[in-house]
Amino acid sequence: MTERPGPRRARVAVIGSGVAGLGAAYRLAPHCEVVLYEAAGRAGGHAHSVQVTLDGVSHAVDVGFLVFNHRTYPRLRALFAELDVETAAADMSFAVSIGPHAFEWCGKDDLRAVFAQPRNALRPRFWRMLFDLVRFNDAATRLARSPGPQALGDFAPHRSAAGAAGATRTDPKDPSALTLAEFLDAGRYSSAFREDYLLPMAGAIWSCPLQTMLAFPALSFARFCDNHGLLQLRDRPQWFTVAGGSERYVNALLTRLRAHGASVHLGCAVHQVQRQGGRLWLRGDATKGPLAQAQAFDAVVLATHAPQALALLEQPSNAEQRVLGALRTQPNQAYLHTDRRLMPRRERAWGAWNYLARGPELASRPTLSAGPQRPSTAPVSVSYWLQALQPLPFKRPLFVSLNPLAAPDPACVLGEFEFAHPVYDLAALEAQQNLSEIQGAAGVWFAGAWTGYGFHEDGLRAGEQAAAAILAQFATREPQAGERTAREMPTQALTPTGDLEASAAIQGSDGGPDRGSDGRSDGRSDGRPDRADVEADALTA
Ligand SMILES: Cc1cc2nc3c(=O)[nH]c(=O)nc-3n(C[C@H](O)[C@H](O)[C@H](O)COP(=O)(O)OP(=O)(O)OC[C@H]3O[C@@H](n4cnc5c(N)ncnc54)[C@H](O)[C@@H]3O)c2cc1C
Repeated sequence: MTERPGPRRARVAVIGSGVAGLGAAYRLAPHCEVVLYEAAGRAGGHAHSVQVTLDGVSHAVDVGFLVFNHRTYPRLRALFAELDVETAAADMSFAVSIGPHAFEWCGKDDLRAVFAQPRNALRPRFWRMLFDLVRFNDAATRLARSPGPQALGDFAPHRSAAGAAGATRTDPKDPSALTLAEFLDAGRYSSAFREDYLLPMAGAIWSCPLQTMLAFPALSFARFCDNHGLLQLRDRPQWFTVAGGSERYVNALLTRLRAHGASVHLGCAVHQVQRQGGRLWLRGDATKGPLAQAQAFDAVVLATHAPQALALLEQPSNAEQRVLGALRTQPNQAYLHTDRRLMPRRERAWGAWNYLARGPELASRPTLSAGPQRPSTAPVSVSYWLQALQPLPFKRPLFVSLNPLAAPDPACVLGEFEFAHPVYDLAALEAQQNLSEIQGAAGVWFAGAWTGYGFHEDGLRAGEQAAAAILAQFATREPQAGERTAREMPTQALTPTGDLEASAAIQGSDGGPDRGSDGRSDGRSDGRPDRADVEADALTA
């Protein structure tokens, strides 16, 4: 009697240990052999806690991911519950200081914060801003929930100078096709509303220049704001943070991953992903470490940012180049510090998030009568007041400033960091629509917050969805007699000079990589493998 072999575990590499990579690895680990590679010496990516000692008191402080809510982060909430991660309430008030310090206000349920600068009560511009804020909330809610022509109310849409300058949408009759600039022009929103509230708030949320925000599709913007309760003055979602710092959940995930037998390699950058002979080969530092020899896998989750993912692919398909190439990132410089000069001058005007701008931003005029001036293309400058966002034991206020207008006093600096944020222009949003074209091609899956709005929930969703797709692919397969997993394959078979021949020998005489006419290694005319083909390719050694 012949013994039937038990189901074998697919070998899956996850590249990147941000929330997307960790989320993918965690869902895969009970079912697959998972190897997680992280270039940095710590796991978490933008979930980044640092240990701070201030006036003799030490505590973990988050300099990246800080807050989430229950309404729009259902996966993250479920994950934290599963991991038994303790959370604490966070304030999410937003403040503006332009000049900086010449004009200040803070959007809180507290009139003392709204009128922190009493002179504002006498400024018609300020009242116009508040009036337009209420009007915009109403119009954007309508747009988000029923994006028909009625979404613009009484205002006849037309193309404006700002719209023409900042965007390329052309159908003026369809509000769902308008850019934010066009939507604002159609509704004749005041420059006060745009410059003193909406664009600073949007730029702060997406950490991108105000000019970029104007090119954002109005419908996506309205839906995001509606989902996140940003269009309501009341009944806004309560925000939360991870008590003790986001490292708590990262460490909980690492512990579970290791318990499932996953390997986690920190400080181990992957240099290249090759698709050869129905296998995926990872290369890294050839002189030392876990990738001294190329490693073979059945599937790979590329949980890096899109430009990094594209750079890792040895022979990206045309579709991969087109889609990933449109999803750019921009660097943002962050300081952890105690320098109050990077906050509004009036403490009553301090919010959890504080937008600071110089005078010229105030002078930008993306208005109906727009002249040559444009809103700023400079990186947005935001200071997070950490005590408002996290329970911290420090008496002295502590801040993280992204792209500060001037560097903080060196005596006040506790750390410096660089983060890359996705750039959400029209090309990026269009590329996102086409992501399904490239997902899973010859076993490579892409995950990251950049596949959605750029937030933690988006990253986790992308990671979990990649894991689900991989599990669906491998779940039903049982090994055929003589079948080998990627791990059992001799790594020396993939030589720098003989990749094709070596792979073909492994797979059989007709099993070499199938190259399309454009040189794509997936070999399909549309760049996407047929699901059945993927299964067969990935599992047949
Ligand atoms: C300052 C800041 C504050 C934020 N605050 C919030 C917030 O409060 N709430 C929220 O929802 N979102 C927030 N975000 C957004 C945040 O970016 C996302 O929430 C999310 O953390 C991104 O996760 P990710 O897994 O897509 O990418 P990342 O976290 O960036 O992870 C990618 C990982 O891939 C690794 N990597 C790259 N190349 C390689 C390679 N070749 N080999 C191996 N590893 C590689 C990187 O080192 C990195 O660890 C914030 C972002 C920043 C920068």
